[in-house]
Formats: sequence, C-alpha cells, structure tokens
Amino acid sequence: MIWNTSKECMSREQMRELQGKRLQKLVVYVYHNVPFYRRKMQEMDLSPDDIRGIDDIVKLPFTTKQDLRDNYPYGLMAAPPSEVVRVHASSGTTGNPTIVGYTRRDLSIWSEVMARSLSAYGVTREDTFSVSYGYGLFTGGLGAHYGVENLGATVIPASTGNTEKHVRLIRDLHITGIACTPSYALYLAEVVERMGIDKSELDLRIGAFGAEPWTENMRREIQERLGLKGYNIYGLSEIMGPGVSYECQEQHGSHINEDHFYPEIIDPETLCPLPAGVQGELVFTTLTKEGMPLLRYRTKDLTSLMPGTCPCGRTNVRMTPIMGRSDDMLIIRGINVFPSQVESVILGMKEFEPRYMLVVDRRGNLDTLEVQVEVRRDFFTDDIGAMLGLKKRLSDKLKSVLSISADVKLMEPNSIARSEGKSQRVIDKRVLV
Ligand code: ADP
Ligand code: ZN
Repeated sequence: MIWNTSKECMSREQMRELQGKRLQKLVVYVYHNVPFYRRKMQEMDLSPDDIRGIDDIVKLPFTTKQDLRDNYPYGLMAAPPSEVVRVHASSGTTGNPTIVGYTRRDLSIWSEVMARSLSAYGVTREDTFSVSYGYGLFTGGLGAHYGVENLGATVIPASTGNTEKHVRLIRDLHITGIACTPSYALYLAEVVERMGIDKSELDLRIGAFGAEPWTENMRREIQERLGLKGYNIYGLSEIMGPGVSYECQEQHGSHINEDHFYPEIIDPETLCPLPAGVQGELVFTTLTKEGMPLLRYRTKDLTSLMPGTCPCGRTNVRMTPIMGRSDDMLIIRGINVFPSQVESVILGMKEFEPRYMLVVDRRGNLDTLEVQVEVRRDFFTDDIGAMLGLKKRLSDKLKSVLSISADVKLMEPNSIARSEGKSQRVIDKRVLV
C-alpha cells in the first residue's frame, strides 16, 4: 500500500518544484540560524538569493561528519533549545559522538517517512510489529517505534538482547513483523532453531532490515529460515535515522523520501556531481528539517541513483544497495566503529605500543571484533594476574568508547606484522555473499 500517494507518486516536475521551494526556504533558515553555514556561504560569496531552484543546490557547501564533531555538541542546531524535543547520538570517531536534535515537527516527519516505508512492505494496522533495533541514543529503536505507532500497527518494543524471551514473544503474541539488523535476523533464526521451534509455529511475515549492508544471499537465507519477506530500510542519524529510503514490493532499489531528503551522487575525490546511474558517494540535503538541518551532507556511503517510475507506482527516485564506504568506517553489530577510536584508546594507555590490528569476523551470524595489540616490553610479564588485569582494563575502555565489546588479545612486543607503506589495521573476514 502507498501511505502518502500525493508525496510518493508526484510527477517529476512537481517534485522538483517542491524541492526547489523547500531548498530556498532551508537556505534562508540556516543562513540566519546557523553561524557555521552563514560563514561558509559568505566565504563562497553566496547569499540565500542565489538559490532559486533545486538545480542551484550544487552551489552550496558540503557538510561532513568532521563538521558535526567540530561543532559538538549543539553548534549546528538551527532551532532554539526550547523547540528541540529529542536528541540522539551516533557513535563518533575519536572523541566526540555526533549529536542530532529534533523538533516536534521533525519527529512527526520521521514517523511519516517510517510509516511510508512500513506501508510499502505491506504492514497494516492488523500487524503486530517487534522493533529489535537498539533503543536509546541510536536512532534505530525509537525511529522505527514511532513509525509503527503512526501507521497504527501494534508495536512491541523488544529492543535487542534476551533473544530467547523475544522468540517466545514472537510466537505467543503472534508477532507478524520485525525491524532489526539483517545479522540479528540471522541470529534470531538460529535461536529459533536451537529452541526447537519450527518456523511454521511463528506468524512472522515481514522484516524491515537495515542499519548495515546486506546481500541478496543473506535475504534468501533469512527469508527461508524465518518464513518472512525481508525488505531493506536505509537511514543515518545525521539526516534523520531509519526511513530515509525503503524498498517496495518490487525490491529493486530503495525509494528515497526525496521530498524531505534531497539526494545527490558525487565523486568522492573531485566532489563533482555524477550523473544518474553512476556509482559514487551519496550526499543528502535535509529539505524540511528544523532541529539540525544539513546542507549536502556527505554520507560516505557508495551507491547510485535509479531514476524512472517504478512498477509499484512510486515516482520517488531509488538508490541501489550500498556498495561500500568511501571512508574506513566499519559497521559491527549495527554500530559504527572507526579504527581511529580503537587507536585513541590504545595510545592513551602507557602499557601499549601503537601497534594493533582489528579482526572482524562473523561467527554464528553475530559479528565479532578482536583487537590485537602489542604490549610494551617493560610491561610484558609472565604474571598472569597482571596480564589479565591489563586486558580487562583495555576491554572496559574499548567497550565504553565503542559501545560494543571487543575480544582483546595481548600480543608480545614485535609480534604484529609490520608493513611497508600504509599499514593494514583491519582484517574484515566477513564475506557478504
Ligand atoms: P543507525 O543507528 O541506523 O545505524 P547511523 O547513523 O549510526 O545509523 O549509521 C548510518 C550508516 O549505517 C549509514 O551511513 C550506512 O553506512 C549504514 N546503513 C544504514 N542502513 C543501511 C542499509 N540498509 N544498507 C547498508 N548500509 C546501511
Ligand atoms: Zn517501487
């Protein structure tokens, strides 16, 4: 079902006109409310009047995650604190997390775009939907939660963890839909099987999977093992959270809610816009956001746009599945992890050499992170108690910085292979096939 025909099936001319009007308003708004953007525009000798339609977007400055960090915590907020009703945070790199703020209207748009997504998957008011993204500072849990409520289905805020109990709830409450990461869905399937429950005892029919890259093979496996149909959901906290784009019944690309989030594809090296169909870095401008609107935010996600009306009837442009990233960010159990975060923890402890290696793997459908690090000669001892204590201290620090646990492996001095030139710090053994 199409939740909002007037916005999801507009003619291209109408859409471009709407986007142009919204962009003009946005530029005036940020120019007057965000000193960062005013300064950037002044440096480029650009005034809000120079933006007359959506094509003028290319004149505007880009925004990066670094800009968000430099302006931590509230520097890019456009709305006054009294208008901000919710704050989320995404895992940052070294140091500051990325803070995002929402006004009441932003939250209502978020639950609107989520309802569009869920509708496209076939969710109705009759469904009982479990949200198994993490609740809390991450946008996944609450973002999906309010979308389900807005649509009128019953929401079960299961969050993550306690999987056996969750499986029993899925069975006993006749849960028909679930939102979670694709790797959690695979883990769930494993627990279901381990508990001796047959998928025919479950009523699951729809899965909203995202927050990390996944493949057609994973889709087939999840569908087969849980007896449901899995749909892609894409989003990022800086732009809104989940619901920036969503798959329809055709499952051929994800429709972007482009009346709110204007997409561009650029060459990550030259920053020049690329034509439709060519793969590059995805850039978004938040056309309607009030709390923390962003101009041309570089997502670092690599994809391409697919113009043209979809057989489902929607005219909103689609994006192909994310093919990778133009930076070194890893997504482990749905959480963003930058190698530099691990580095900063290690550099902050005198017992370690600045030599480390991250080994990412997927065991039993759950991502694992092993951090190998060389202990300095003066601190390397046969005293097991001392070594275990050191290991625990590093594990605890990593956990607090990364928000996920890492398996620490203390290494003897000079045991991690040296490489000439750029050192390899990450081995990602997960094969997404
Ligand atoms: P979340 O809390 O939803 O993970 P973050 O802002 O922390 O949001 O992370 C957003 C990033 O997660 C995106 O830039 C992208 O790299 C990745 N991501 C989100 N959804 C998908 C998806 N459906 N497919 C591939 N990658 C995704
Ligand atoms: Zn479609």
